[in-house]
Amino acid sequence: MAEVILNKLTKYFGRVCAVEDLTLTVYQGEFMTILGPSGCGKSTVLNLIAGLEEVTSGDILFDGDRVNHLPPRQRDVAMVFQSYALYPHMKVYENLAFPLRMSKLPAQEIEERVKKVARLLAIEELLERKPASLSGGQRQRVALGRATIRRPKAFLLDEPLSNLDARLRVQMRAELKRVHAELGTTFIYVTHDQVEAMTLSDRVALLDQGRLQQCGTPQELYNRPGNIFVATFLGSPQMNLLEGRVAEVDAQAALELPFLKSAIRRPLLASIARRSPSGEVIVGIRPEHISVSKDKREAALAAQVMLVEPMGDFCTVHVKIAGINLLGKAEADFVARAGDEVWLEVATGKIHLFAKSTEERIGP
Ligand code: ATP
Repeated sequence: MAEVILNKLTKYFGRVCAVEDLTLTVYQGEFMTILGPSGCGKSTVLNLIAGLEEVTSGDILFDGDRVNHLPPRQRDVAMVFQSYALYPHMKVYENLAFPLRMSKLPAQEIEERVKKVARLLAIEELLERKPASLSGGQRQRVALGRATIRRPKAFLLDEPLSNLDARLRVQMRAELKRVHAELGTTFIYVTHDQVEAMTLSDRVALLDQGRLQQCGTPQELYNRPGNIFVATFLGSPQMNLLEGRVAEVDAQAALELPFLKSAIRRPLLASIARRSPSGEVIVGIRPEHISVSKDKREAALAAQVMLVEPMGDFCTVHVKIAGINLLGKAEADFVARAGDEVWLEVATGKIHLFAKSTEERIGP
């Protein structure tokens, strides 16, 4: 296992900047996910770490040693790709044994290691079959087995689950987590799927246009997004964004939102007001913090239903209030028609504030 440090890593393809000034430490044994939209540079980061691409500038260190100029073989990392890349003419057993034969290990040790990894990934029954006769999930497990059998310093996984159907993906997610826990090796995992990133990772590094937006635990990114990009990339349905003002009201700093009857006042807001001198802020409210109900509750706000989307365990409700469209959540059995009056309760303690000018988080 290795600690992997990326220091001011930059990669240009001609004039296209795929990765810009990326500094990131992946701790020994950590499950780090590099997350971001298509084209943000995720695969390029992985290829740079593997040595499949050359860096334009910056350094890559494994356990403190600079590996920039080492060829892939000498970096001792294992890659698992979206396409499984198994040898079609070899049985599963031989596919697993192949990396060990290349390392010229004794036959007995090869057999022991193949059996151990087959047990770990529950593919013991498949050892005599060829890849063509396996399902997608089984092939993916064999590919994972072939990578793990070598005990490399780190595993680099590039969207390894994206070819699987939804059910298998959930199953393989759990298996990956188990394999990581068992091996205790550093995993660097690339995906555009926020659910995979949130469920698998110790920490997530979210990229946009080659630049790191935020790195932290899934909870940190979700609960304290550092900017509007992070806030809206994570969470489904997406966070509501509204224009608001932090202003002085009765000699106190207060947040005014067009649809709230009275401004929100909290001591904290005074310091936010100082950080946004114009007073113009973008207010983020996650749909789960706007509870929608047909019952009129105290301090609830009247709104109009636009659309109800039953999601199984809850409903997403599109509402309009004071000319503003919002997404809220209602109980699973919520039924309403477009135009019906409903009541909203906003958890004002859970709002996020971003500076309008920079889109950076300014509070709370
Ligand atoms: P996806 O999720 O779609 O695979 P990604 O986040 O992995 O995307 P990369 O494949 O790393 O993104 O690409 C980042 C940027 O670099 C893109 O603009 C891409 O077009 C460009 N790029 C990647 N590889 C090359 C290459 N070999 N030559 C030229 N440009 C490239």
